Amino acid sequence: MSLADLPPLRESLESHGLFAKKSFGQHFLLDLNITRKIARLAGPLEGCAVIEVGPGPGGLTRALLEAGARVIAVEKDPRFLPLLAELADAAPAGALTVIEADALAVDEQALAAEHAPGLPVRVVSNLPYNVGTPLLIKWLTGPFKPELMALMFQKEVAQRITAGVGDEAYGRLAVIAQALTKAAIVMEAPARAFTPPPRVDSAVVRLVPLADPPPAKVIAALETVTAAAFGQRRKMLRASLKQLGGETLCAAAGIEADRRAETVPVEGFLKLAQVVLNRREA
Ligand code: SAM
Repeated sequence: MSLADLPPLRESLESHGLFAKKSFGQHFLLDLNITRKIARLAGPLEGCAVIEVGPGPGGLTRALLEAGARVIAVEKDPRFLPLLAELADAAPAGALTVIEADALAVDEQALAAEHAPGLPVRVVSNLPYNVGTPLLIKWLTGPFKPELMALMFQKEVAQRITAGVGDEAYGRLAVIAQALTKAAIVMEAPARAFTPPPRVDSAVVRLVPLADPPPAKVIAALETVTAAAFGQRRKMLRASLKQLGGETLCAAAGIEADRRAETVPVEGFLKLAQVVLNRREA
């Protein structure tokens, strides 16, 4: 059997007696036109390794394989393994590796080195809602450095990642994501595109790492500064950043202390983080 001979996804689910479980955040994309579009937005994938979190019934996995990727799929729900084994058999030899694991706990670098040595690695996934943000933070700030990510989130989370200064959704997540990547919403998907439909709409965010990102220790300081500043977002920086130096910190970074966090662009937060770091290291 080849990928083209596989039955429709709905039939695969039925023949394996599978149904969505809420506890695993399962909302499936069963329309291959949609999953192929997501794969295109992450492409070109020929000669790339892709880490996919939560393949579930494998609709996005099929599209990634069709696009020529070598896929390492990490699925927590063991019920899907037999169905995914059929997909691996239908794919070109060695193109799909399925790992039964919690994606929050896996070492992506080790997985890629073992199953796709030497290939550039991207992350493409229709993420489970309950762990989408912690997974993104792991991929942004951890040792694993994918060359591109195309990730489906709840629309509200997608907006919090891509918001600009002054937007209602602008906050910690936007600052950290945009300090490290160029992030944009590249596709929207209404709730009805999923089976079963979630309560909210979704969107795909594409994140491309900056060529010259700030060092990890600046990002660690940025996490501290943004936690304080947005933890009390209605207060002026002189008050919200008091524990970190307040007025003198702002002066050293060249940021007016009477501003509120939501008016400070990413570069401003990076300046504040650099001053915090310099003081820590002095
Ligand atoms: N990719 C499939 C699709 O688009 O139809 C399923 C997407 S569904 C939103 C999320 C998937 O992630 C489910 O298959 C679920 O079992 C899996 N999952 C949930 N939590 C997980 C975790 N911590 N680690 C790995 N997979 C997880």
